Amino acid sequence: SREWHLVARPHGVPRPEDFALREAAVEEPGPGRILVRNLHMSVDPYMRGRMNDVKSYVPPFRLDAPMDGGAVGRVVASSADGFAVGDHVLHQLGWREYATLDARHAVKVDPDAAPLPAYLGVLGMPGLTAYAGLLEVASFKEGDAVFVSGAAGAVGSQVGQIAKLKGASRVVGSAGSDEKVRVLTEEYGFDAAFNYKDGPVGEQLKKAAPDGIDVYFDNVGGEHLEAAISSLNVHGRIAVCGMISQYNATEPTPAPRNLALVIGKRLRIQGMLVSDHQALQPRFVEEVGGWIRSGELKYRETTAEGIEAAVDAFLGMLRGENTGKMIVNLGA
Ligand code: NDP
Repeated sequence: SREWHLVARPHGVPRPEDFALREAAVEEPGPGRILVRNLHMSVDPYMRGRMNDVKSYVPPFRLDAPMDGGAVGRVVASSADGFAVGDHVLHQLGWREYATLDARHAVKVDPDAAPLPAYLGVLGMPGLTAYAGLLEVASFKEGDAVFVSGAAGAVGSQVGQIAKLKGASRVVGSAGSDEKVRVLTEEYGFDAAFNYKDGPVGEQLKKAAPDGIDVYFDNVGGEHLEAAISSLNVHGRIAVCGMISQYNATEPTPAPRNLALVIGKRLRIQGMLVSDHQALQPRFVEEVGGWIRSGELKYRETTAEGIEAAVDAFLGMLRGENTGKMIVNLGA
């Protein structure tokens, strides 16, 4: 079995040499454990943070040890009650072809209810992030005007569509290419979208939302956050989900220069972690699953093939090569 190790801690943008694909023995499952052939694995922005040796809400990856993250696979050997060979499971030992784990850390998934990669994206962690972030953290209500950055990505594309489905007065998204902007307005029903590389975000946002916004769902930070503070209406809310523009920063990043506007506008800025919102999972699966089946909520995935492509897929995702969730197919 092959698995990816982190072999050096990146400074700035990670380089392929910071990673190594290594052979490892497949471990037979002891009592209560299962052996899983991984079929699809996730590469996510938060993994960049785990490459730094700093205390955070998830522990850093260890050097010269397999990395981990979301994966779905097929049980090929089981010594655990309730798990049979042929079952499909979602678990956290990605970045490898075979995983042996305690069955308590695996959740069975149904390949007939949804395609397996969906459990890593639209019906998985990023989907719940969008749903909980918009509805709980940002306290979205009907009639709100919503701006979301990273809007063509896994989380962002769902935030915008859920806002529309829940009665937003206007939904604006930003993304890093003209093709992504086209997908947002022509396929996902955003009212307006812009390419943040085309010019100052503040000016582009004012044009796209001339009456201001009530909610900003932040995936990007930096210039986007400052622009949103300027465009937010009184009593506006910001859900701070991610700040991907800063994950590779090697120097402290500038604060929003207009933060004092928070006072007069009585803005609420709230950070979030999806792990705090597990209680919402059943409602999320029911509601979003229904919208997917009815075709009201659309999603895309960008896929890479084979374990050897996983690092390139991760680096490509940081560069914006994905539209929707970036998934690595592990074959078999
Ligand atoms: P995406 O599918 O959105 O992929 C990342 C995207 O970020 C890229 O496609 C790229 O798109 C964009 N990007 C990269 N660099 C920059 C930059 N400098 N400025 C603007 N955009 C950039 O990833 P996810 O949907 O999985 O995650 C989106 C955000 O949500 C991330 O910030 C992530 O950390 C956060 N997150 C937070 C969670 C939480 O619990 N708080 C849980 C899950 C995700 P483009 O072409 O548009 O530049």
